[in-house]
Amino acid sequence: MKSFDPEQAITEARREFGEHGGVAPSIERSSTFTVMEPGEMPEIFAGKRGPDRGGCYLYSRHFNPTVDVLDRYLAAMDGTEFAVSTASGMSAIVCALLQICHQGGHIVASNMLYGGTHALFTDLLPEMGVTATLVAPDDVGAIARAIRPETKLIYVETVGNPTLVVADIPALAALARERGIRLVVDNTFTPMIIAPARLGADVVVYSMTKYINGASDIIAGCICCSREFGHSLYDLHTGRVMLLGPTLDPRAAFDVIQRLPHLGIRMREHSRRALAIAGRLETLGVPVIYPGLASHPGHECFKSIANRDYGFGGMLAIDCGTTGRANELLAILQNEEQFGLIAVSLGYYDTLMSCSGSSTSSEIPAEEQREIGISPGLLRLSVGYTGSLESRLAQIEQAVRQVGLA
Ligand code: PLP
Repeated sequence: MKSFDPEQAITEARREFGEHGGVAPSIERSSTFTVMEPGEMPEIFAGKRGPDRGGCYLYSRHFNPTVDVLDRYLAAMDGTEFAVSTASGMSAIVCALLQICHQGGHIVASNMLYGGTHALFTDLLPEMGVTATLVAPDDVGAIARAIRPETKLIYVETVGNPTLVVADIPALAALARERGIRLVVDNTFTPMIIAPARLGADVVVYSMTKYINGASDIIAGCICCSREFGHSLYDLHTGRVMLLGPTLDPRAAFDVIQRLPHLGIRMREHSRRALAIAGRLETLGVPVIYPGLASHPGHECFKSIANRDYGFGGMLAIDCGTTGRANELLAILQNEEQFGLIAVSLGYYDTLMSCSGSSTSSEIPAEEQREIGISPGLLRLSVGYTGSLESRLAQIEQAVRQVGLA
């Protein structure tokens, strides 16, 4: 496959000027738009004359000019025909899933997912008559065996939260194609680094709250997909985005637009630092999980699916064994060493640290956590890029020595 350069793709898509020729696009805040000829209204409502089909804008829950600019950049970034921004990562996930899966439908999903998505599969969707079988995302054979006649889709995170298990996207895409179902991938941990749609995924979802926005000041999500699927999300009668209504505010869209041009630089720096820290921890004998380490079971798979030069991402995990030791390490890292902040979420310029089992994976029952390798002392780090790398390495080395991990 021809190598893909998402930064170049965004650069080529960026042809937008502000209303007065500004180098930045304008923010269009109008919720509704003037239709110049009354006869055009029915055609616009029938979906025959949208802004992407030579027509005009109608109403901002449908298409908004500023959100549209962001959508075009996101589609370029992922190599898809279309993208739909939403008000959160969860709304992107729910709308994409419900567009494909109806009452009685079945999903084969990874058993290593963000806790909210896990709750969606095990608690909320079953209430609506949609069930899921959870399987290890790196076991393509087990995923194939879990597919039933009523299965509509396979759902995985490219790099599973929080144990960083790597999904073989091309193999899963081939399986989905062969069985006539779709592959939906949450690529929140690896924007730019991996482009799942280019590897055969049908739909790619993101929490833009994380790396894509990168400043921990906006909740947003997006769905990158085919034009046909995008239009189905906006259908007047059955479009899940149109009718559930998780529209992204144009002001938030504008902020994300302004941060996309340096996403590539940020991802490379997150990756560079995470690799250095993971390498140092491994040398010290600390149990560390990072896909950039040759010791990681998904290392070769990651290398085979990644775009060139972006590294292995900014997420790593340290297995401290017990909650007590993880909390001790967290307290030292934040309050003594000033290495990072104890907070959930990820993709910020400062390092964010949390104990997954009792926070972002707490929706997963304790016994299931044990089975899938989330130990009570598993500390997830979203490695930031503030401060010098040398001082960060010294800080974490001091902290792991102090708690007896090295
Ligand atoms: N997907 C992943 C991998 C996440 O980590 C999260 C949140 O932590 C989400 C989706 C949900 O995103 P949001 O909080 O923007 O709704």
